[in-house]
Amino acid sequence: MKHRIVVLGAGYAGAIAAGRLARRLHPDDIEITVVNAEADFVERVRMHQLATGQDLKRHELSQVYAGTGVLMRRARVTAVDVDRRTVALTDERGADEIAYDTLVYALGSAAADHGVPGVAEHAYDIAGRPSALRLRDRLAHLAAGATVLVVGGGLTGLEAATEIAEARPDLDVALATRGGLGDWLTGKARQHLRGVAARLGITVHEHTDVARVEATGVVTGDGRTIPAQVTVWTAGFAVHPIAAATTLTVAATGQIVVDDTMRSVSHPEVYAVGDAGLADGPGGKPLRMSCASGTPMAWQAADAIAARLTGRVKIPKAPLRYFNQCISLGRRDGIIQYVTADDRAKPSLLTGRLAARYKEVVCRGAAWSISHPIPYPVRRRRVTTTRTENAATVS
Ligand SMILES: Cc1cc2nc3c(=O)[nH]c(=O)nc-3n(C[C@H](O)[C@H](O)[C@H](O)COP(=O)(O)OP(=O)(O)OC[C@H]3O[C@@H](n4cnc5c(N)ncnc54)[C@H](O)[C@@H]3O)c2cc1C
Repeated sequence: MKHRIVVLGAGYAGAIAAGRLARRLHPDDIEITVVNAEADFVERVRMHQLATGQDLKRHELSQVYAGTGVLMRRARVTAVDVDRRTVALTDERGADEIAYDTLVYALGSAAADHGVPGVAEHAYDIAGRPSALRLRDRLAHLAAGATVLVVGGGLTGLEAATEIAEARPDLDVALATRGGLGDWLTGKARQHLRGVAARLGITVHEHTDVARVEATGVVTGDGRTIPAQVTVWTAGFAVHPIAAATTLTVAATGQIVVDDTMRSVSHPEVYAVGDAGLADGPGGKPLRMSCASGTPMAWQAADAIAARLTGRVKIPKAPLRYFNQCISLGRRDGIIQYVTADDRAKPSLLTGRLAARYKEVVCRGAAWSISHPIPYPVRRRRVTTTRTENAATVS
């Protein structure tokens, strides 16, 4: 009987892991099933573009995996039973259950409301495709002069505010951030950011804590009101509650705690990658939720699974570190902030059109590698361990 690998989620991390496993392991020995709620691989890093009316290239997963041996199952995961090694699903035919020998958990994340009242009722977000499409529809119906407030001054907030302001110069766009604008970046990058905000007419509310979202704007921690016809909430990501409902060891965030091979510290047949996994990066600092982390996490998990199943003694090490932060500021501007391995800003950076182009190349490269899982002839190794041995192996 084949060894059943089930990959939950085909976002950046899950799709990369599935493709790499298909490249590494012999199809006669392995059955790889990818379960994803949507029919397409969604370029989540482009959700601000989708929200502002741009049409994105489709990457149909059944086409992506055609001829690779990977089975694509469009379904929603409702629960995982890590003791019985089963996954509960629902699709258009109803409820179902599938069994695995190795599980790769990569269900990603959604917008985090941090318990702030009114976010669920009144705010929009761009953490996923359905919510970005909802915002797209709302923005399309806004009349000139309408106010849009983006809450959150992290990477997603900066990208959202600038994209909206560039696409809709007729709107009155503001950004509220808890700290100073881009305060983790170098002085030069911050200066560039201020220039772009001024050029695009974005009002920046720094050191502003939003305590409540209402239908007509937000109320800040110090009692001020910022009016907005549309509030876009970009104050971080939270994982889906599925992992926390299992007996897996999870962190307070609900992320699955993994070792340096992305293997669950409590269940050796489970791996977690991308936003859903909590792994240490350089200096023991947890990797942040991002593609920049999810991609090497996926490489690492796939290589570790392949090595363990094929009896290799040495497990290859993926570069679990950072190189740069790529921030788009509309379609014609951006910042590439070079960083240390543990994600602290270094003096060097790129700005302007060159940075925008650089970021576009990075995004296209990531999507291309996912949609071409087996781009060249590869040697797919035979499985040598039994299911029981694999589950019992410790790194
Ligand atoms: C607007 C925006 C811009 C960003 N820009 C950057 C950037 O420039 N650089 C960067 O590094 N990061 C960026 N990020 C963060 C990055 O997109 C995420 O960290 C990354 O997508 C995480 O990858 P993932 O595979 O873990 O999750 P995802 O990409 O979210 O994929 C999860 C997959 O699981 C599926 N899924 C979820 N729940 C279920 C379920 N119950 N059943 C079945 N399927 C399910 C989803 O449909 C999805 O396909 C950005 C995010 C946003 C929203």
